[in-house]
Amino acid sequence: MELIFLGTCSGTEPEPGRCHVAWVLQVDGALYWFDAGESCSRTAHLLGLDLLAVKAIFISHSHMDHVGGLANLLWNIRKLDGIKRRLQGAVIDVHVPNRQSWDGVMQVLGQSEGNFQTAFSLAVHDVQPGACFDDGRVRVDCVSNRHLADGRSFSYRIRSEGKTIVYSGDVKSISELDCWLQDGCDLLLMETGHHAVEAVCQYVRERPQIARLGFIHHGREILDHPAESRSKAFAILGERVFFTDDGENMTL
Ligand SMILES: [Zn+2]
Ligand SMILES: [Zn+2]
Repeated sequence: MELIFLGTCSGTEPEPGRCHVAWVLQVDGALYWFDAGESCSRTAHLLGLDLLAVKAIFISHSHMDHVGGLANLLWNIRKLDGIKRRLQGAVIDVHVPNRQSWDGVMQVLGQSEGNFQTAFSLAVHDVQPGACFDDGRVRVDCVSNRHLADGRSFSYRIRSEGKTIVYSGDVKSISELDCWLQDGCDLLLMETGHHAVEAVCQYVRERPQIARLGFIHHGREILDHPAESRSKAFAILGERVFFTDDGENMTL
């Protein structure tokens, strides 16, 4: 399976070369979409990804750097299906942590071309802690974290082809992922918008069951001091750590 990083920036002002956070898991040609920051579907399409292969979308929380591209993602799927006509009767699962935010997205789309009438349908799920998705190819679990005071912020664990990925979303503390990380994972995708690079690396160094650490949702420390951040991280974790960039992909 392959991971494609569409946006790797935290919720900053516009940054050259980086968009707000979004990434995709590709398994057997099917796409599973995690967060939907600005421009994510444009980036994916221009990278050659097949937007009509999106099976499910998982949003961590309703901050703009995670949902700013959601309406446009759905609009682009409709647009492409209008050209290619492959999605008659198809269902796309959408996992939403905040119904008001979702309703706003649908209102925007409903006032757009064709009132967002589509050949496919959206199965909308309110994100709840626990098992939230299983299509026989990919299983996704969810845990709530303390990034938002109202509790509607979530992290995801994704399992497929015998591999496990833990995606932090935005968290207040990395320890909020202990419930999963104690069992180990092949990849921890950890946001650094709210966390120091060294502290996260030290946490991972003490847990050899975490095979690799990928930084995503980069904050000011990495954006302003990329070389220093990398040398700090490599000094602690060596080859176990890497920094995601927009448009990159990796095979797991
Ligand atoms: Zn964020
Ligand atoms: Zn946030």
